[in-house]
Amino acid sequence: MDCKEKAFQWVDTHHDDMISLWKQMVSIDSGIGVKEGGMEMGNLCAGILEKLGFSIRRYSFEKCGDTIIGERGDLSKPYPILMGHMDTVFYEGEPKKRPFTIKDGVAYGPGVLDMKGGDCIALSVLTALHEAGFDFPCKVILVADEEPAHCFSNNPEIIEKESKGAKCAFNFETGFPDHDITVQRRGCWRFTIETFGRGSHVGNDPKHGRSAINEMAHKILDIEALTDYDKGYNVNCGVIEGGTVPNATPAYCKMDCDFRYISNDDLPKLKEMVQKIVDHVYVDGVTSKLTTTEGFDVMERIPGNMELLKIAQEVAKEEGWPVPGPKLCGGGSDAAYTCKMGVPTLCSMGVEGEFNHTVEEYANVDSLFARAKLAIGILLKVGEKQS
Ligand SMILES: [Zn+2]
Repeated sequence: MDCKEKAFQWVDTHHDDMISLWKQMVSIDSGIGVKEGGMEMGNLCAGILEKLGFSIRRYSFEKCGDTIIGERGDLSKPYPILMGHMDTVFYEGEPKKRPFTIKDGVAYGPGVLDMKGGDCIALSVLTALHEAGFDFPCKVILVADEEPAHCFSNNPEIIEKESKGAKCAFNFETGFPDHDITVQRRGCWRFTIETFGRGSHVGNDPKHGRSAINEMAHKILDIEALTDYDKGYNVNCGVIEGGTVPNATPAYCKMDCDFRYISNDDLPKLKEMVQKIVDHVYVDGVTSKLTTTEGFDVMERIPGNMELLKIAQEVAKEEGWPVPGPKLCGGGSDAAYTCKMGVPTLCSMGVEGEFNHTVEEYANVDSLFARAKLAIGILLKVGEKQS
């Protein structure tokens, strides 16, 4: 039996072990801002990696779990990165409310798809290849605050720094039922606009008032008009709050927006367009402020991504599996930061399913094993091409 056959056999004979690791991960409450759960996930993954010969480094933060860096072998030689996030989009208590369950070949639970299934695949693939005797040089990067766009850390910089010198990277994010693999993702810029007017009694002294809501209403229309699908960008004014009572001119209004774009080069221009709208005064006496809150860079479709996809396609063809096509994904991921460093990257390598970020989230159980084998095939081919 060659290395690939041995690793495939490991997957075939360890379905229960893989599912129980998946279940263990989903049961850990690593929702947004739940540092303890993030730490628990990190410790679980670090423990598995150590058994596979990885040494562990950590970056620690005040408000989220550690970033886990696992390293094995001589990293002065070409090596792949396996990466993922350990947090989920849900808030504390969700795994208790909706525990991991499997029904008719479909798995449910918070983060089952996004992306604890993928975390489980990454670690299982490393285990299978280790058992098959292929302990290749490799780095693993796992972060604990991807869902809130790293608002608790400087993980984007860490990923960029840690990916210097890597040959390629695989992010085990949410996979899709059509089996396609992400080679490009749009970026996301989140910002808040505040308008500051002057409150007044609308019966006694209406002319004294300066409506912060009126000002914002104009800005909403201008900002939403920036959407241009032909140019690959669209903006959403998603959350708004302002005013106090019906009989007072609103002195304050606040709005959170999300701008999606297709090229990192677009961002300065988009920021300029929004700033212009923020600076424009519609209601005399109202002032406005723009603050960037969070975001994701674009995962640029660098040429190496397509080369990697070709390898994935070769593996699928050879094995008689559905051949994955290239996907442009609207949502952001940490693949942006490896691509930014020029490291060819495939994303969406995780379990396949739908409706991530909602309580309807599900993942196909069979894809846990199919995707593990695909990753094994790709890693072995990448290894062959390196040696
Ligand atoms: Zn995710």
